[in-house]
Amino acid sequence: MKMSSSVVAYSFRHIPPLKQRSIRYFSHQSPLRRRPLCSPCSVLVATSTSSCSLPNSASFTGNSLFRRMERYWAASSINKNKGMVEHLQRYGVIQSKKVAEVMETVDRALFVPDGSSAYEDSPMQIGFNATISAPHMHATCLQLLEKNLQPGMHALDVGSGTGYLTACFALMVGPQGHAIGVDHIPELVTMSIKNIEKSAAAPLLKDGSLALHVGDGREGWVEFAPYDAIHVGAAAPEIPQPLIDQLKPGGRLVIPVGNVFQELKVVDKKEDGSVSVRSETSVRYVPLTSREAQLRGY
Ligand code: SAH
Repeated sequence: MKMSSSVVAYSFRHIPPLKQRSIRYFSHQSPLRRRPLCSPCSVLVATSTSSCSLPNSASFTGNSLFRRMERYWAASSINKNKGMVEHLQRYGVIQSKKVAEVMETVDRALFVPDGSSAYEDSPMQIGFNATISAPHMHATCLQLLEKNLQPGMHALDVGSGTGYLTACFALMVGPQGHAIGVDHIPELVTMSIKNIEKSAAAPLLKDGSLALHVGDGREGWVEFAPYDAIHVGAAAPEIPQPLIDQLKPGGRLVIPVGNVFQELKVVDKKEDGSVSVRSETSVRYVPLTSREAQLRGY
């Protein structure tokens, strides 16, 4: 994938400073399953975004913690899509076979900028002040939406960017379903189509069950509404009403909400049309905004 421009990378789980985290992170496993922290290699990458800082080995007494850190750092040399998926499984981010299969099938290297480390658990700049989300965020959102991505279902990916998640959605809902990506940057939509054409989801693009459109995603995409699954890949100041309206009863919307402090919200529409909202985890995404605001750098 060709790209231009340089911006700070976003779309990863927000992590508190390592000192606060280290005991929780290294002392037991179970929180990883429910609310996984980002993986160690993304901890490294996140330093460039000022959310985390590298540990100072001198501040640890004894060497076992530091040795364990070194082992985790070594794990950052993931260089295969399958290895990336296994890594996410090992840390409990991917919990289902279906999500593992789809992430193995859609090679992330086809969606990241040329020359970048495709399988590193980090968000990456894709130009136009946008980023491809980190693999652990893609996996988290696929897990949250899995039940609403069954064959034949309708899925909407707002802020589709590179098209990676739209391709995953399309493979999950299959040729009888619909996976729609919407992004307001025409160049990104063109690029996402080219990316998908090289991927395992290409036949679905050809048969029309997968489509990518230029538009303001805050309005949703009425053509294939109502949706069983809606994903938003950029942080909204509040949940856009059209997205709630376009959710099917029984449907689920996953959307980051907030400005500086953001939470990944899970919105479920019940069969009676009532809606429940819960927070899954703290995150950091680029804003869901106007095209003009995005192009001038927010
Ligand atoms: N999920 C994608 C991209 C995430 S970056 C991926 O992982 O590849 C967020 C994307 O949201 C950017 O591509 C940006 O252009 C898009 N975006 C932001 N505001 C938008 C809006 N109002 N309508 C449509 N797309 C929007």
